Amino acid sequence: MIPITVFAGKKVALFGLGGSGTVSALALMAGGAEVVAFDDSPAKVEQAKAAGIPTQNLGELDWSQIAALVLAPGVPLTHPTPHWSVQRAHLEGVEVIGDIELFCRERAARAPDCPLVAITGTNGKSTTTALIAHLIDSAGGDAQMGGNIGIAALALKPFAPGRSYVLEVSSYQIDLAPSLRATVGILLNVSPDHLDRHGSMENYAALKTLLVAQIEKNGTAVIGVDDAYTSDAANRLERAGRNVVRVSVAGPLRDGYYAEGSSIVRAAAGKTYPVAQLAGIGSLRGAHNAQNAACAVAACIALGLELPAIQNGLIGFPGLAHRMQTVATRPVAGGRVLYVNDSKATNADSAAKALSSFHDIYWIAGGKPKSGGIESLAEYWPRIRKAYLIGEAADDFAKTLEGKVPYEVVGLLSLAVDAASRDAEASGLAEPVVLLSPACASFDQYPNFEVRGKAFHDLVLALPGVTAI
Ligand code: ADP
Repeated sequence: MIPITVFAGKKVALFGLGGSGTVSALALMAGGAEVVAFDDSPAKVEQAKAAGIPTQNLGELDWSQIAALVLAPGVPLTHPTPHWSVQRAHLEGVEVIGDIELFCRERAARAPDCPLVAITGTNGKSTTTALIAHLIDSAGGDAQMGGNIGIAALALKPFAPGRSYVLEVSSYQIDLAPSLRATVGILLNVSPDHLDRHGSMENYAALKTLLVAQIEKNGTAVIGVDDAYTSDAANRLERAGRNVVRVSVAGPLRDGYYAEGSSIVRAAAGKTYPVAQLAGIGSLRGAHNAQNAACAVAACIALGLELPAIQNGLIGFPGLAHRMQTVATRPVAGGRVLYVNDSKATNADSAAKALSSFHDIYWIAGGKPKSGGIESLAEYWPRIRKAYLIGEAADDFAKTLEGKVPYEVVGLLSLAVDAASRDAEASGLAEPVVLLSPACASFDQYPNFEVRGKAFHDLVLALPGVTAI
């Protein structure tokens, strides 16, 4: 844990006692602050009490002595309406900040030389964050990885010389971190998301852009420039004198990093040269992962990593669970079957990424349907040898596929794995892929996408003759 000493001797109110809120309270207490915490859920208040955190209804608190309100990122700050604790803080003239802000203030005060890489974007944050931490570690460094990826930033190891911090930062967290100044800030892409929480696309894009606009004085802003919002942001920041590094997977750049086939190429001062090669790296398949990898490579070069170390790290990247994760292979006559868990693909857009990354697909899809269905995936039908439909969406998906893609309505994941595996094995193809990429939420049959992915993983590993990856 990183003790937060910048509020030592002060009284801090905290609202939202989920994972990161609880860690924030303990980190503030460890650093010498007096904390008073609360949550709308009585069970969470009880849990906090049991963990030794002082609690009190913030509605009944005397706010005159409060230095700051620390808010959990899931609690509404502005839209649809500010949470009551935020309204009260505004009324009392108390600043509202989040755990990333605590991290940044502590770093500024105690460890400005510990590099901070902060990653945001609508898609690919976790993959890029994990990849950068892996590249630093595999080059012999000491990377601490956290933030929105699931490990609270303040739960990481304390600042120490030579230690780097790689934080995934959501738009909610940026909103609560006015002094987020990264050594390397990365903005991957921006497309409509969470607009209920940010009011409008303009607000959302402006927030995301803040992360790269506020980099340290000698820092680097790595920006994926393949959409209008991010390419405008890159131009604006460059005009404002920031060190901007552009990244594209849509075409060559005059200055920056771009994907050319499976190579990542750097263009600078009228010259181009390859800096990394993604061919054969299963965990980084697809154009979307080329964007993530190119941004990660650009960041690591900015941090001073050597190219051979970066390439070695890329080759050894295991990928993240449930995101196009190859879980096993099975040798068959003339080739092998790949088993791929993409349970995180809970909508058609995400499933498109996986379907575009493989050929000869035995596709397991379905679950709790999302609006829009799977019509948008039509361009991938020729890649799908057969679909195995599960869950509530099965009948609707069957109607969409009728006459275009062979399918079976099997209902359950276990039956789908058996049938897809049998057909892939009998196909005679060199590398057929049994792909769980459901294009649906999991909630009709599983508590969340992780449990669904784990179920797929376990079913696959129980098949005869498979080798786990
Ligand atoms: P996030 O943390 O932003 O949700 P992840 O790295 O967890 O992103 O990836 C989640 C899903 O988003 C992936 O399974 C893939 O479908 C899609 N994805 C990943 N990277 C990108 C990208 N750069 N552009 C578009 N979609 C992406």
